[in-house]
Amino acid sequence: MTKTEKILSYHGIRPTQMRSKIYKFLKRKQSAVSFSDLKKAFVQKSETNKTANRTTFYRNLKIFEDKGLIHQINDGTGVAKYAISEDAGKKDLHLHFHCTQCLETTCLPSRMPEDCLPAQYQTQGVNLVLRGICKKCLRKLSKMRNESLWTEKNVQRT
Ligand SMILES: [Zn+2]
Ligand SMILES: [Zn+2]
Repeated sequence: MTKTEKILSYHGIRPTQMRSKIYKFLKRKQSAVSFSDLKKAFVQKSETNKTANRTTFYRNLKIFEDKGLIHQINDGTGVAKYAISEDAGKKDLHLHFHCTQCLETTCLPSRMPEDCLPAQYQTQGVNLVLRGICKKCLRKLSKMRNESLWTEKNVQRT
């Protein structure tokens, strides 16, 4: 059994080829993957039997979500995105970060304190999204700023 197959089995999911592929695809990404990107990779690119693949793909995504292996993120862009749940199965109330520059959404390691909810309330879902500029884009922006300062200086000198 491969590592991926073990993880799937551990969550009560029978490992099939497509399931392993979906898991690996999501796992490789640093940020959440939109539903349409997943569909593109697993349905539109499939060479044979697109209809059957579509049905299987939808079903697999639903199973992953039900078993707590992945979670859906609503980052306010109107597009559903998915990411692997690191603490699968447990109540994973973590924050997300949506970058307004590159539009990528990532899971943050910060978790909600367990006592954030008063007694006798029960959560059914969570949607915590911080908005701003990610590390990658900040670096790019400051580099651009430095470069333009540098050219300005050079222009003045000549
Ligand atoms: Zn960014
Ligand atoms: Zn997340």
